[in-house]
Amino acid sequence: MAKTKDRDKVWTTKDADELYGISRWGNGQFSINDKGHLVILPEKRLDGPMIDITEVIEEIKAKNISFPTVIRFHDILRAQVVSLNRTFRDVIENAGYQGHYYGVYPIKVNQTREVVEEIIDAGTPYNFGLEACSKTELMAALAMNTNRESLTILNGHKDEDNLRLALIGRKLGRKVIITIEKFSELPHLLKLAEEMGVEPLIGLRAKLVAEGSGRWADSSGEKAKFGLTIPEIMNAIKLLEEQKKLDYLKLLHFHVGSQVTNIRTMKEAITEGARIYAKIAKMNIGLEYFDVGGGLGVDYDGSRTTQDSSTNYTTRDYVEDVVYILKQVCDLEEVKHPHLVSESGRFIAASHSCVIFNAFDHIRPGNLQYNTDPTTSEHILVTNMRDLFKDLKAKNVQEIYNDAASIKAQAINAFNLGVLGLDERAKIETLYWQICQKIEAYAQEIKLVPEHSNRLKYDLSEQYLCNFSIFQSMPDALAVDQLFPVIPLTRLNERPTVSCTLADITCDSDGKISHFINPRTGKANSYLLVHPLRPQEHYYMGVFLTGAYQEVMGDMHNLFGALNEVHIFCDDEDPTDFYIEESIAGATCAQALEQLQYNAQYLSTTLKKQVDLQIHRGKLNPREGVRMADFYDDCLQSYTYLANPIFAPAYCQAAAELSINASTSTPESVAPVQLN
Ligand code: PLP
Repeated sequence: MAKTKDRDKVWTTKDADELYGISRWGNGQFSINDKGHLVILPEKRLDGPMIDITEVIEEIKAKNISFPTVIRFHDILRAQVVSLNRTFRDVIENAGYQGHYYGVYPIKVNQTREVVEEIIDAGTPYNFGLEACSKTELMAALAMNTNRESLTILNGHKDEDNLRLALIGRKLGRKVIITIEKFSELPHLLKLAEEMGVEPLIGLRAKLVAEGSGRWADSSGEKAKFGLTIPEIMNAIKLLEEQKKLDYLKLLHFHVGSQVTNIRTMKEAITEGARIYAKIAKMNIGLEYFDVGGGLGVDYDGSRTTQDSSTNYTTRDYVEDVVYILKQVCDLEEVKHPHLVSESGRFIAASHSCVIFNAFDHIRPGNLQYNTDPTTSEHILVTNMRDLFKDLKAKNVQEIYNDAASIKAQAINAFNLGVLGLDERAKIETLYWQICQKIEAYAQEIKLVPEHSNRLKYDLSEQYLCNFSIFQSMPDALAVDQLFPVIPLTRLNERPTVSCTLADITCDSDGKISHFINPRTGKANSYLLVHPLRPQEHYYMGVFLTGAYQEVMGDMHNLFGALNEVHIFCDDEDPTDFYIEESIAGATCAQALEQLQYNAQYLSTTLKKQVDLQIHRGKLNPREGVRMADFYDDCLQSYTYLANPIFAPAYCQAAAELSINASTSTPESVAPVQLN
């Protein structure tokens, strides 16, 4: 019996899950329901609350909130805090480790007040604290973290203000630990503490020789920007000893960089850090905390590899390494087990928010609607290209593809030499793209040379125009080639047949996504498979795992600015299993302009003066002038993103007709473009 061809198989949501890697990067928190919609499972249980993203979108629309919108799932945020703390507690208990875990959330990862409040609230039973790296962050942390048992850690470069604020925290009875990153900070701190009559809690950041892995590997190693070398640590201890202040020294810290991809890196760093800790402890210094910094990664592409956007370990693997390695070293060195601290922000915040946007149009390579009818005196290249189209069969695909590419190149030369006219060039290009499309329809049956197959896929991929700004919503995709899961939110029970890249609405050619996760290998794909756009219908897509760093590092390119935001809470009693607790309006045009020193009132008045002038000159009717000025004012108060993106209905229609329809997606059913 003939082998069933891939495209003859019925497409199921399981196929979609595999294609988009939802179960792999989704960590049990995302799945697909029977309707083919993405769902959120805050409790990681299929029999628990299940939030259908389509219902969320409908409710957002009903509230007149425009897209793009950030959706925050507070239950996911809480679940991450609980999961990290419980894993530490569990491993500590199993290992018979003597210390406790006092984790802190580094607020630089996402300083949004609601995010920090939620983390503090969920972390209260575990005395989960905060970490700050700047004066402003410290001001937020001091006011927000009121739990006297949890830690507030001050890292980063400091001036007198930072130190003074941290010491005020001590005066308020809080466990504020100041980490010395540069030796020169220490004498300054001791002097200030003396002046203020405060006993500081001091930490030392060690500059490990063990190097990080992944994109932020430079945060560690001898060339790292922060931390004290071993001679500097010894000098710091000497200084404290001389001043009889050794009892201020409470914590040893290191940080090997964010998003550590390889667990071996963590093992090496913990081993080196543990030895340093133990040797200091043996000097009869009452260190109490061992702080392993950040680094706990997120498997953005679901590949479980050491690729930059992945990790080859689980949270439990990481926690077990921290606890067991430290325990072993302490036991061997016969020193007390210290309390454990980690500064895991990415792990806590990444999965709780996503950006939902609408794809509203597409750009197809090649214009498929040009009339290619033969004419009596047409150039031989046109005739040859048409013949190739007619001769194309499954068995000669490779040959025809080569010949078509060659004729296309010759045609461009001929055009540049003035031998070929515009009409002929248009026909050749149209026929070329039609040949490519036909070849693609055969591609499931025939194996093209891989190089050609990939090239063809990329060449034929469409660009979906998406109503959002990559600069604002996923800056790391541009800055460090970070991959994020980007997926359609509906029609997941339909075979996706269009390969595309995504173009945002900034006027910047960098504003596009052409690298997509490949959950099987971790090596990025150059296109994403999606569904054909339907005329007059928005196609909703989401970028996931954007809760860490992206929101706060996004920029104002083209003055798009902050996105609308909705905060979702799970409610098992509600028929939809959720409710929108709060919505926060994104930037209006006036606000975006004001951030760059424009005064909206001034702009409005200036425009009105120009309108008045035109009325005065008799060039504008007064009623129309007033309408124009009012419209300008309305726009100042409107959302910066596209409110009513303009569809191209005819274009969409043509695309829909030419696309391989999911329900009839056999090679035979792919109607080759008709030649006239
Ligand atoms: N702690 C320090 C000192 C950092 O510099 C960082 C970020 O690089 C973090 C914690 C957060 O680490 P992560 O992104 O791995 O959560």
